[in-house]
Amino acid sequence: MYDKNNIFAKILRKEIPCNKIYENEASLFFYDINPQAKIHVLGIPKIECSDFYDFVRLADKKTLSSFFESVSLVIKKLNIEKNGYRIISNSGSHGGQEVPHFHIHILAGEKIGSLR
Ligand code: 5GP
Repeated sequence: MYDKNNIFAKILRKEIPCNKIYENEASLFFYDINPQAKIHVLGIPKIECSDFYDFVRLADKKTLSSFFESVSLVIKKLNIEKNGYRIISNSGSHGGQEVPHFHIHILAGEKIGSLR
């Protein structure tokens, strides 16, 4: 069950501000408030979905492709396509997800440490 009061839902409704990088009809990209790397960007689709599984299940093909094309566009905008980056999406308690609206983290700008 989607929680309409999660922080990213509030950001989408403009009840809470964000430092926006890119927005279109399907998605929004903004800087993480507590960056874990020199560049730490979050990307969220605008439809109500709790995690990756939910997003793929609920979104139509146009929305799915639009979101992932936007990820690519933001990578270009951040100028990180050559040096690299890490994309992460946490889900549920085992995945360590804090905000229950599907999002990806784009970490870049320096060497990102090993996963463990
Ligand atoms: P999760 O653990 O759910 O994958 O990541 C949630 C992320 O959202 C965290 O990295 C956290 O710093 C970020 N975050 C939480 N609240 C806010 C907020 O109000 N604004 C922004 N820009 N990021 C937030």
